[in-house]
Amino acid sequence: MSGTISALLYLVSSVCFIMALRGLSSPETARQGNMFGIVGMVIAIGTTLALPSVLSYETIILGIVIGGAIGTVIARRIQMTALPQLVAAFHSLVGLAACFVAIAAFFKPEAYGIGQPGAIGAASLIEMSLGLAIGAITFTGSIIAFGKLQGLVTGRPLVFPMQHPLNAALGIALVALIGWMIVDQSSTGFWLIFVVALALGFLLILPIGGADMPVVVSMLNSYSGWAACGIGFTLENSLLIVTGALVGSSGAILSYIMCKGMNRSFFNVILGGFGGETAAAAGGPGGDRSVKSGSADDAAFIMDNASSVIIVPGYGMAVAQAQHALREMGDMLKKNGVSVRYAIHPVAGRMPGHMNVLLAEANVPYDEVLELDEINRDFPQADVAFVIGANDVTNPAAKTDPTSPIYGMPILDVERAKTVLFVKRSMASGYAGVDNELFFRDNTMMLFGDAKKMCEEIVKALEH
Ligand code: NDP
Repeated sequence: MSGTISALLYLVSSVCFIMALRGLSSPETARQGNMFGIVGMVIAIGTTLALPSVLSYETIILGIVIGGAIGTVIARRIQMTALPQLVAAFHSLVGLAACFVAIAAFFKPEAYGIGQPGAIGAASLIEMSLGLAIGAITFTGSIIAFGKLQGLVTGRPLVFPMQHPLNAALGIALVALIGWMIVDQSSTGFWLIFVVALALGFLLILPIGGADMPVVVSMLNSYSGWAACGIGFTLENSLLIVTGALVGSSGAILSYIMCKGMNRSFFNVILGGFGGETAAAAGGPGGDRSVKSGSADDAAFIMDNASSVIIVPGYGMAVAQAQHALREMGDMLKKNGVSVRYAIHPVAGRMPGHMNVLLAEANVPYDEVLELDEINRDFPQADVAFVIGANDVTNPAAKTDPTSPIYGMPILDVERAKTVLFVKRSMASGYAGVDNELFFRDNTMMLFGDAKKMCEEIVKALEH
């Protein structure tokens, strides 16, 4: 295939990827966006395989078969609730791939047409050292993020004395090493960049507390894009440069939006350890304070007599896969003349858009699903806030307790509704490990039980 045709085809698939991102920005157009993404990827892979520089189809096919088989098995088995850690694990592989390409290019530059060992062009050295550094940070950072989301590493911020000065020193050392490597082409410098960047990825993510993990995941997504972009320069592959830049910038924009949504400083999160100094532990399930608890029948009675109900879904709804039963409950209430809307917090669940995806899967009409900014002021007029498997995103400690790890995060003001119904299994805290004082309020009724079962029982009660 000639260079012009492959460049044109790469341009077509870049446009497809841009259309895919555009489509994915709204639930209504997401399917179409996915189709664009698939078409773009098929063109990209087909064009790459037809390039004259391909040396061995056997190795490529072997890689596709092994990787594709592992990917298919994982995709079929993975629970929706485990997607964030899967994404983090996949990011680590992108980082590792960037490191491998940089290592190969540095030690065998002639294979890439970028010079001879010890005589590589300065531009290529810059590209590969940046690819190596960002790739290594992404690799270890994503492994720690995976560990935290999987519960293998504690979700609490892990802080230690001199953490920020140490990170700053490592950052400066990394820049100096990159400079040394470019000037001297020293292999010691090359390996030191690798080791320092691995350590930095580890140290940057380890201190980040549970409440900031959403930002971290999208930030690592961004890093993995820039790492891919770096590989693109080394491999002189324009499509990889474009795709890497698309992933890198969209991840960075998403991180910024999430930081704004959580009232976090972007730089504090990127530099690691936000909330480290303020980590407040949960003080147990409220000592001997008593809570009011009710049954599905009570909940059905209260909601059936309400004129407006706002449903606040959270991670527990995803765990219980309660979205279908919840929609059925909403439909019955609507049939009985109750106004039903859904309030979505930007970090509810365990990945951006988690709740929107589940509600869309259950065919909840999009116009009933509102973002925090759109609905928060309506809670005082609501008769019932039905909080199903959500906890941190409703916790007023975010407004009142400066020592809380979630302090500053905007929350859904459910306590302003006349009655708050909390569906959860116990008095346990949420992801950030902070007790929720709302459970003890006079206008709160706890509905203890699995979210799906509770919704099904409420539906039965409403039927009667
Ligand atoms: P939380 O983790 O705060 O609370 C979820 C609650 O659901 C728990 O308190 C749990 O209580 C309850 N629950 C669990 N399983 C069930 C079940 N089967 N039935 C009923 N209830 C259940 O979730 P939120 O959505 O309120 O907040 C999200 C948190 O996750 C935030 O801290 C956010 O920062 C963090 N996060 C978000 C990410 C994102 O991108 N959205 C990514 C990573 C982290 P109990 O055990 O008593 O049932």
